[in-house]
Amino acid sequence: MLLKSRTMIKKVSAFTEPIYITRPVLPDLAEYSVKLREIWNSQRLTNDGPQHELFEKELIKFLKVPDISLFNNGTIALIVACQSLRLSGEVITTPFTFPATSHVLSWNNIKPIFCDIDPSTMNIDSERIESMITPQTTGILAVHVYGTPCDVTGIQKVAERYGLRVVYDAAHAFGVEIDDRGIGAFGDITMFSFHATKLFHTAEGGALTYNNRALKPRIDFLKNFGIKNQEEVVMPGINGKMNELQAALGLLVLEMVEEERQKRKVLIDVYSECLMDIDGVTVIKNGSRVYKNSNQYFVIRIDEKLFGRSRDYVYEEFKKYNVFARKYFHPLCSDYSCYKYLPSSRKENLPVANKVVKEVLCLPLYGGLAASDIERICDMLKSFRGKKAL
Ligand SMILES: *Cc1c(COP(=O)(O)O)cnc(C)c1O
Repeated sequence: MLLKSRTMIKKVSAFTEPIYITRPVLPDLAEYSVKLREIWNSQRLTNDGPQHELFEKELIKFLKVPDISLFNNGTIALIVACQSLRLSGEVITTPFTFPATSHVLSWNNIKPIFCDIDPSTMNIDSERIESMITPQTTGILAVHVYGTPCDVTGIQKVAERYGLRVVYDAAHAFGVEIDDRGIGAFGDITMFSFHATKLFHTAEGGALTYNNRALKPRIDFLKNFGIKNQEEVVMPGINGKMNELQAALGLLVLEMVEEERQKRKVLIDVYSECLMDIDGVTVIKNGSRVYKNSNQYFVIRIDEKLFGRSRDYVYEEFKKYNVFARKYFHPLCSDYSCYKYLPSSRKENLPVANKVVKEVLCLPLYGGLAASDIERICDMLKSFRGKKAL
């Protein structure tokens, strides 16, 4: 076994062009030009124009959600989600996420309370939430990390028992479904990001989805300065509107997203096959339940003891071969200078997150990669193994 794996190591050469973590899906420029012509003719560039209206309808269908509001980006959308539910005081969240998740709480003058994560899904550990609730707690802000759904049932139960609101950050979970139900139909509000690095994008953009349609007027006032009509401004809103150029791009990218997802699925299978028997490398599977995944990321965990090299070593080594992996989500939010003073940020409170954050590595994944590129990346990874592993 040991001998076999040693002989399998090939000498690999660096890529001549850099391979980045992702590449945006882009429609044919001529098709976008047709859309731009429509916009030019309509003379409407933003504020609920025809592209925006159509895009909302198409997304409701695609995402299998009752209702939606579009935004200029996911972060503003999430800030508005907290405002619309009147969250205040303390909100329980995960430290293992992109900075935006905890920052939106700060922008709402809410104290983030970091809860440790589940070692298998890397999402907030629903069983630990209850122990973090105080009289100041008003909500839970959970993230479907790498597109793996949170324990939506467990989270809902705690929320109902304590009268808390639930907001999901689904920036990685576009098109994910649980038992044929759109991921955006769980909790009170779900945020999607349409940033260029996500599976689905509008260059910059985002959305909130929700079951309770009564939320729509408030959310839509909040993203448009609180303007109700020419005579009334009813709340201190912000400018969170998605413009017509973004919506038109979104309509075209939406037509391509399923094909992109399928292509990525094939590449994920190539990766998984190539990396199956490497000691110290674990391929992250997106959960065991029956659902559709976004295939936004391909993530591995590197166990330094078994692999003989650390995740950071591998990450640096890849760069020499023109491969730009990403350490999503390093550092933990609880280690940022603005949050590390919080009692919930202490390492003893977050043992799983502190272990996971040293091991995860996202490898390049986008439809334009060839299976042979993936095999080459895997051969590189094998060649990085340390002495201890051999
Ligand atoms: C990308 C991302 C965001 C931010 O979305 P923007 O549209 O870039 O503002 C928020 N949360 C997570 C988990 C993300 O990955």
